[in-house]
Amino acid sequence: MTTSAVSVNPLECATSSPSAMSLPRLLRGGGALTAGLHNCSSSSASSARSLRVLVDMDGVLADFEGGFLKKYRTRYPKEPYIELLDRRGFWVSEQYENLKPGLSEKAMSIWEAKNFFLDLDPIDGAVEALKEMSSLPNTDVFICTSPIKRYQYCPYEKYAWVEKNFGHEFLERIILTRDKTVVSADLLIDDRPDIMGAEPNPSWEHVLFTACHNRHLSVTPPNRRLQSWRDDWKALLDSKRPSS
Ligand SMILES: [Mg+2]
Repeated sequence: MTTSAVSVNPLECATSSPSAMSLPRLLRGGGALTAGLHNCSSSSASSARSLRVLVDMDGVLADFEGGFLKKYRTRYPKEPYIELLDRRGFWVSEQYENLKPGLSEKAMSIWEAKNFFLDLDPIDGAVEALKEMSSLPNTDVFICTSPIKRYQYCPYEKYAWVEKNFGHEFLERIILTRDKTVVSADLLIDDRPDIMGAEPNPSWEHVLFTACHNRHLSVTPPNRRLQSWRDDWKALLDSKRPSS
C-alpha cells in the first residue's frame, strides 16, 4: 500500500501567528495541526502539479557523522576511533565493532543520549538550499527521516532541530517514518545507499547524497548522486518536472 504524503505548502498555509502554537502543543496533537492541514487541503488544486521532494535529515541536513565523532571522542578518549575519511558502510556501529569488539555499544550510547540529535550542526549549505527549494513554485518539500528505535529523545529532538534551524513553519514538513518506501514522492535525496521497505517499487527516484561513508561507492546511470548542497540541486529537480 502506498501512503501519499499530504501536499501542503506551508508558505501559503502556515498559521498567521506561529508563536501562538508551542512545540509541545503541536506534538501532543491533534487539534491545531489537523486544522492547519485541513485548511491547506482546500486550496490544493494547484499542488497536484507540484514536484514532491523528500529530503533525508541525518547525513543530508544534519551532520550526524561529525556530531557522532566529536561526542564519541569526548566520551571515550582512550578508545580507538575512525576518521571520517575512513568511514565505510552506512552503519557506524558495525564499523566500530569491527574495529574493536564492544565498540558498537559505545557508539550507540552516543546517539541514544540526550541532546545528540538536537546538538547536530547543519550540513554545509543545507539550510539555505532547503529554504530556497521550499520557496520554488510548484515544489513541495518534506523532511523525511527515520528516528532511532530508542525513542526517549530522538523524535522530539528532530522536531526541535528543524524548528531551530528552519523555523516553525517547517514543522509542517516533517515525515517521521522507519519505512520511506511507503511515502510517495518524485524524489528522495538520501545518503543511505540501500533504502528498502514494504513497497518494492517506491514512487520516488532515490538520489544518493554524498557522505563520508558512501563517497567510495560507484553510482552509475540511471542512478544519480548529489555531491553536496553546492551541487546543482535545482537541475536535479527540474529533470523531474513534467515539462522536462
Ligand atoms: Mg541519512
